[in-house]
Amino acid sequence: MTDLALFRRVAPLLLLFFAPLALPCSAAADPTSYTLALDVNYGSGEFEGTMTVVHANCTPNALWELFFRLYPNSSTLYSEASIEVLDAHVGAKPVETSLFVDDTVLMLPLPQPLEPGQTVSVALSFRGRASQRLTVPSPVTHEYGILTKTPNVLTLTSFYPLLTPYLDEGWALDPIVGIGDALFAEASSYDVSLRVDARPTPIATGVLTDATRESDRVVYRYAADHARDFSIVLVDDGRVPRRVEVAGIGIRVWFRPDRGPAATRALERAGAAVTLFSDLIGPLPYDEIDVVEVPLQHIGGVELTGLVLLSETYTADPYDPFFDILVSHEVAHEWFYAAVGNDPVESPWLDEGVVTYLSNVFLAEAVSRDVAAAERQRWERSVSLSQSVHPELTLTAPLYRFPDSTTYSAFAYSGAAAEFAALRDRLGDGAFFAALAAYYQDSLFTIASPSDLREAFENACGCTMDGALFADPGSP
Ligand SMILES: [Zn+2]
Repeated sequence: MTDLALFRRVAPLLLLFFAPLALPCSAAADPTSYTLALDVNYGSGEFEGTMTVVHANCTPNALWELFFRLYPNSSTLYSEASIEVLDAHVGAKPVETSLFVDDTVLMLPLPQPLEPGQTVSVALSFRGRASQRLTVPSPVTHEYGILTKTPNVLTLTSFYPLLTPYLDEGWALDPIVGIGDALFAEASSYDVSLRVDARPTPIATGVLTDATRESDRVVYRYAADHARDFSIVLVDDGRVPRRVEVAGIGIRVWFRPDRGPAATRALERAGAAVTLFSDLIGPLPYDEIDVVEVPLQHIGGVELTGLVLLSETYTADPYDPFFDILVSHEVAHEWFYAAVGNDPVESPWLDEGVVTYLSNVFLAEAVSRDVAAAERQRWERSVSLSQSVHPELTLTAPLYRFPDSTTYSAFAYSGAAAEFAALRDRLGDGAFFAALAAYYQDSLFTIASPSDLREAFENACGCTMDGALFADPGSP
């Protein structure tokens, strides 16, 4: 444990490292900016990097430390992957960090409290490695493949130290469980340089602003604003993207060369989904969305900022309705995960329920109302069965209450989505989608809470929200 008292004694000497906040904390300004210099060995999946994080304290409390998540150290979801922080500085001053929560939390002490409205600049250097294969599931490992090297793909997500959000209850430091999503971060700005072998093609969050050849390596430069994460997929199987521009957003689909028909259909489906959700919810504040086929297990897809991963398992049959559900579900997460955040541990239903419902709206529009209705009936059966087995659980339960992914999916996805369907029936299309649009606009770039959603619906309908989703307005 780091001795915080020592830092408090030397605090007056370190005023230099703190500066007044240049801009007020507002939803339009990212409170955190990352400058990342990454060096990736594509062949081995090893990476190292340095990063400077400038963070504005937009909380009402003085902060004595910052907490970063080291997700790769979770053997549960990341198997053999790992990360090690080599050194840390606040300004030019080296600081001693400590690890907690199975080495997935790094505490970085601040030499003096960071008062509300102040900014601090910290620098970390780190190295780590991706898992070397998709590990066979075991009682301790439930690897998805989101930080994994496979023969033609290196997927790097949540691989660098990520500042964890500070909520009303304090820092979000939940242990990483073997189901659902773990990645949880504030919307942040990124300036990233990626040095990697010339052979693989990088697909990453944000916009590529430069690429410079250095012998047998290339340095790529990326910029992103309002991003919950910076993620990279490197591929070397010769795939080239198919691209379309929709609602001002460049959509690129990266499928294996032998998956041409699926890539064409994914591009069309993703474009149609962006059009529909832009109309219903509001414009998306990102320039690009990359849809990438990668090896995954246990899950159909993963949402990241400006980047959607689809499991190769489920892209084999692009004419199965599940393909439409999968693509539209993950695309909808750009609105509700990336642009509007929420706590994926304490209230996972908040984005999963909404986007599961939106995927059904897409299904009704783009495929057929009958197929959409059949899917809603499947939800009802699924949640009914799970409720009979687990009467103690609710749709809005936190992630760690669910015993397995099937039960979690039945409640937080199917059950919550069924409630949204019932809500639409009750309120009518006008009030229902006005509420979702208002929730989106009012919560843009923030971490939304269930009470934000409740408020949006109550304002839109002029009525009181109750029922399974809103029974406890004080729930996190
Ligand atoms: Zn989802």
